[in-house]
Amino acid sequence: MAKDVIIACDFPSKERTLEFLDMFEGVRKPFVKIGMELFYAEGPEIVREIKARGHKVFLDLKLHDIPNTVKGGMKSLTGLGVDMTNVHAAGGIRMMKAGLEGLGAGPVLIAVTQLTSTDQEMLNNELLIEGNMNDVIVKYALNAKSAGLGGVVCSPLEAGLIHEACGNDFLTVTPGIRFAGGDAGDQARITTPEKARELGSDYIVIGRPITQADDPVAAYLQAVQDFLQE
Ligand code: C5P
Repeated sequence: MAKDVIIACDFPSKERTLEFLDMFEGVRKPFVKIGMELFYAEGPEIVREIKARGHKVFLDLKLHDIPNTVKGGMKSLTGLGVDMTNVHAAGGIRMMKAGLEGLGAGPVLIAVTQLTSTDQEMLNNELLIEGNMNDVIVKYALNAKSAGLGGVVCSPLEAGLIHEACGNDFLTVTPGIRFAGGDAGDQARITTPEKARELGSDYIVIGRPITQADDPVAAYLQAVQDFLQE
């Protein structure tokens, strides 16, 4: 898949989401991320509806359970036609392999390494995961690769390291994006769309800087221009 900007549609309802996507009609069809907020509120139907409107969909449910349950969960997602979905690498290689088996061919399965809201201090002192954040992330990415996954979710700041360790075909899908001077919110490891491009991100995921902008379409086009140089 080609590089792109993915909008995180973290809305509480179908109405809000479709109203938001209507604004892009005739401009450019965004790649859409559906996360747990919307999926839990509206169920699989919202995915079908957005797919039927011609959007690519990244279903971001971050599965993390025993291998058999993750396999079954992924199996239930087949048929929705999603282009990308994910699991937590923290579930281990066997769990990731089971997820892949359940999902089958078609969608790209990626793994979350460490959430971009986690910082070094939290990693070591709260989660009691020893070592340097980058080493942990590279190890998790290598685990995902050895399980046969197509890439990882990570911060753009880690994209280069991950490509170095796992190869350039291994996708880096990167949230934690903010426009210069924007509000970081709860994100800890952040950068701009332009910088993410320089760092080698394959996909950037942007939520609030677009969904809560005064002019979401202008913010999206700005991100597309900065990231894809279109
Ligand atoms: O609003 P914001 O741009 O921070 O949204 C980022 C999106 O990416 C959210 O939907 C969040 O759940 C998701 N995400 C993340 N960090 C990860 C994985 C996913 O922020 N490691």
